[in-house]
Amino acid sequence: MRWFPRREPMAGDPLAADRAAMVERQLRRRGIIDARVLAAMGAVPRERFVPIGLRSHAYDDAALPIAGGQAISQPYIVAWMTELLQVLPGGIVLEVGTGSGYQAAVLATIGARVRSIERLPELAAAARERLAGLGLGDLVEVIVADGSLGDPGTAPHARVIVTAGAPTVPAPLLDQLAEGGRLVVPVGPANAQELILVTRTLGRLTETPVGGCAFVPLIGVAGFRPGEDGPV
Ligand code: SAH
Repeated sequence: MRWFPRREPMAGDPLAADRAAMVERQLRRRGIIDARVLAAMGAVPRERFVPIGLRSHAYDDAALPIAGGQAISQPYIVAWMTELLQVLPGGIVLEVGTGSGYQAAVLATIGARVRSIERLPELAAAARERLAGLGLGDLVEVIVADGSLGDPGTAPHARVIVTAGAPTVPAPLLDQLAEGGRLVVPVGPANAQELILVTRTLGRLTETPVGGCAFVPLIGVAGFRPGEDGPV
């Protein structure tokens, strides 16, 4: 069955047409096919995750700055990473780099329960508040910690998404990846990484580069040192 974006403007949702156009032009036309991902991207109000002054740009084909010198990813990248993750209905996802909370909201909207780690307490607090305001507070738990170390207490993890660029695939995340698990992580210098899909099958890890991307740096024990690469 084909899914058609809603075209008529919705009362109380002045950006509905922009959101639908983003799904059609930036996602579907570029090859995103997972219906659950397309539906979630068409449902989550990205304007709630960007600074107020940038709301009219919420559906631009671009990453946008958020507080703390960080960034909310380009919609296409969010959709692509979500599709690569192949989230199981009701499955649990570990996210490293909560940022605005937008990626977590998309994951929760496709039916995942998300444990999201953010190193900057003020971003974590703002994301928590936003997610609660959208009724997603029960599905997303935001934790302040160094996510480059993964989350040993809840390991092994079936699905892990890292939304900050790491110098190498963080070893703790490989150690904590469950059998049959999938880890998506950008690797490379600030603002020019390769997205790597790591799978564990019959105990063996396979790393597959899937394309280029640009994220702010992952800063932590198994990431960059503060000040070593990009904004801190
Ligand atoms: N997924 C986010 C975008 C993340 S931007 C969104 O949808 O908006 C990357 C985030 O990773 C930033 O907020 C940054 O503070 C955070 N970060 C960087 N290093 C981290 C680490 N070691 N642990 C947890 N979060 C980290």
